[in-house]
Amino acid sequence: MKLLQSLVVNGELALAFSDGEEFYLPLTLVRDACPCALCQGEPDAMGRVLRPSREVGSRGYELVAMETVGGYALQLKWGDGHSSGIYSFSLLRALSLTHT
Ligand SMILES: [Zn+2]
Repeated sequence: MKLLQSLVVNGELALAFSDGEEFYLPLTLVRDACPCALCQGEPDAMGRVLRPSREVGSRGYELVAMETVGGYALQLKWGDGHSSGIYSFSLLRALSLTHT
């Protein structure tokens, strides 16, 4: 599956894939689902995941850049400078299913 097109339309990330799938994901949903260790928290020695209570400011929901990574994921850069989240296409698909 190849990503053919990715752009931001009316506050949503619009993605079109080579197999004909199209996703529209609100940027707030995408940012809140950032898969990086900083946003999701890392399990401690007991296996508990402590999610950091970090506030995302309004700039944090502005998508300023995106880049495909290894043909299977999208790296997104946000207005607050955060860019460590690598969103696999399967994660993006799963997200699109949660908000329909
Ligand atoms: Zn993150």
